[in-house]
Amino acid sequence: MKSIALILITILTYISSHSQENGRTINLKIIKTTAHLEETILLDSNKSFVQIKDFIPTIELDIKYATNQNVFYRKLYSRPSALIRLPVAKALKNVQEDLFAKGIGLKIYDAYRPYTVTCKMFEILPDTIYMGLPWKGSKHNKGISLDLTLIDFKTRKELPMPTPFDALVYASHPNFKLLPENVIQNRDLLIHTMSKFGFVVDPVEWWHFNYNSDTNFELIDIPHSEIENLILKLKLKR
Ligand SMILES: [Zn+2]
Repeated sequence: MKSIALILITILTYISSHSQENGRTINLKIIKTTAHLEETILLDSNKSFVQIKDFIPTIELDIKYATNQNVFYRKLYSRPSALIRLPVAKALKNVQEDLFAKGIGLKIYDAYRPYTVTCKMFEILPDTIYMGLPWKGSKHNKGISLDLTLIDFKTRKELPMPTPFDALVYASHPNFKLLPENVIQNRDLLIHTMSKFGFVVDPVEWWHFNYNSDTNFELIDIPHSEIENLILKLKLKR
């Protein structure tokens, strides 16, 4: 009986804390229109978006959420798009160039992610360790996070890493050590090279990196296609 009461209390506490947390989304500042996004870009060009493949043509794209081959078994993007803020793209270009000397390149799994998609992901998988939290928003929503791995530049094949992308297990933690030596070397080369150019690895996901910056990047909830159109529009204006 005591244990049932304890379980009930736990469930009730969870529900009340979550409704409170969800209530906080009201206070989140989220850009929802391209007109608003354009305003912020005109005030600060650091907030511009670029298509990663246009900016770094040798990079490989494998946008998992544009397929159903992902941890959610669902297609969450209508097409494979990889968008990122301008300073992040510049830093990433440096990473790609640095790795090229070693015969290695980058493969992108995900970049900018609309806020609504982060909410949908949490609805499907309400995990507070690995998931972006709707009441906070994710740095993917700000266009300053990247999910990526290393490939052999010539064969375009992925280098062996501790886990597949989005594996929600301990081996995904970047300090996990019970791994073959070559796997540790590959993971640490990725983390070391990314950090050399201003990226910080996530504490529980070896593939996720946030770009360090003083700029206050806003959360965004605009579909990829609309941001792509804005990129074109601003390019033509120049
Ligand atoms: Zn990520």
